[in-house]
Amino acid sequence: MPISPVISHKIAPALAQVQQRIAHALELARRPAGSVRLLAVSKTQGADAVATAFAAGQTAFGENYVQEAVAKITALREQGLRGIEWHCIGPVQSRKTAWVAAYFDWLHSLDRLEIALRLSRQRPADLPPLQVCLQVNMDGGPNKSGMPPEQALTLAQTVADLPGLQLRGLMSIPEPYADEARTLAVHQRTRALFDELGHALQLPQWDTLSMGMSHDLETAIRAGSTLVRVGAAIFGERPAKVG
Ligand SMILES: *Cc1c(COP(=O)(O)O)cnc(C)c1O
Repeated sequence: MPISPVISHKIAPALAQVQQRIAHALELARRPAGSVRLLAVSKTQGADAVATAFAAGQTAFGENYVQEAVAKITALREQGLRGIEWHCIGPVQSRKTAWVAAYFDWLHSLDRLEIALRLSRQRPADLPPLQVCLQVNMDGGPNKSGMPPEQALTLAQTVADLPGLQLRGLMSIPEPYADEARTLAVHQRTRALFDELGHALQLPQWDTLSMGMSHDLETAIRAGSTLVRVGAAIFGERPAKVG
């Protein structure tokens, strides 16, 4: 799907603006510059939008829908684009795990042992291990994926030992509270769990706390996020998803 030149010209400045928001939030939190990675969430955007952001220096992209992502990844490879890091951030059903294992570098939304076992078996031997974060549902939102925080340590211990997977940390998506203090409290609880598990697991690669989106990245960075997943603030508002 080609994008209009109007949108295309907005992507590079929008990326720069998001990087500025990140830098400013880090400064306010007295955290080192460069200690938060930006994941550009390109779900529902065409391959052209990804290529435009990549040309502007963005290398990591997040996708929610596996089939949509595989089509995009394939199209960009055929165009000769190399060096994009693909992150799966949406819920993964068992019948899609082979695609995730074959096409993605990262999975942020692991929340079930069954999926972990399948991915471990299916990760092609010639690829580096799939980098994974466990998704936790910190505020008990009823319609959300993610495991209850009490189950995270047990799953983390199992995943840490599975071949083909490398456990990197946690991901969470708070409910969209109007009240920033509530969002901050949820992010802080996720950070506390991240520290607690890090202490229990003692893994050298336990370094990723994936939280914060377009509307709450400052709050997430204040609470200790190391990776923000940003879509709308880079590519513009998405049309409501149908189906
Ligand atoms: C869509 C999505 C994002 C990005 O949200 P924006 O509000 O567009 O920044 C981040 N994380 C996940 C899991 C998403 O599904």
